[in-house]
Amino acid sequence: MLVSLRHAVECAYGQDWSGKSRIAVVRDLTSAQITDNPISLARIVNQFLQPTIDLNIIRVGADLFFGSYEQKIEFAIQQTRVLFALVDLRLGQINQLFINSNDTFYVIDDHAEAEALTEDWSFPNKAIDVFFVHAYLGDTVGRSAINGSCDKQSLGEMTGCVIALEHTEEITALALAHEIAHYLGLRHHGDPHNLMHESLPNGGRLETNQAEVMKRHCFVYPECRAR
Ligand SMILES: [Zn+2]
Repeated sequence: MLVSLRHAVECAYGQDWSGKSRIAVVRDLTSAQITDNPISLARIVNQFLQPTIDLNIIRVGADLFFGSYEQKIEFAIQQTRVLFALVDLRLGQINQLFINSNDTFYVIDDHAEAEALTEDWSFPNKAIDVFFVHAYLGDTVGRSAINGSCDKQSLGEMTGCVIALEHTEEITALALAHEIAHYLGLRHHGDPHNLMHESLPNGGRLETNQAEVMKRHCFVYPECRAR
């Protein structure tokens, strides 16, 4: 990928410099100090290139949420951020969304219902849809497509993740990271310490080769999108 320095600086500092001023690299042979606040080019470019995913956090039956649910969601996002950061995958924008209880079912009876929920309520952007429901009957904590589509209009498959909020904070957090990893292409792993072990709680670890698979998914983008 070709990165212009100007674009990288604009991105890192969240400003649009066009038409206002030019970024000039000053070469001053008489002084080691060029600016009062030296900027590491490597840091800017690394930030520019860091693989990032965005999430739509969709609360299903939000009007009937219990007090602990918001806390569980917040904890799950933070834990997922930490687990993914260990393999250099970043959580970017987190969009907060709600569906009320009279608009759809918030207790999932079977996998067909989970699939229907993601199809019916997909949010039209390039973020992964994560539906937090009150409960999922049976022994399922969460469910996702494996290597999910980036076309959320595609039919006949899950176009997001569904996670039940009825479990502990720890299980909910691991379920969020686990289901997102499924969506990004990972299958189950035999090691009970691995995030992709099918029973929760597991050890939450990700191997480098698993991270490489996730980073190739079409929803993963460099932090600063090309304009
Ligand atoms: Zn799984």
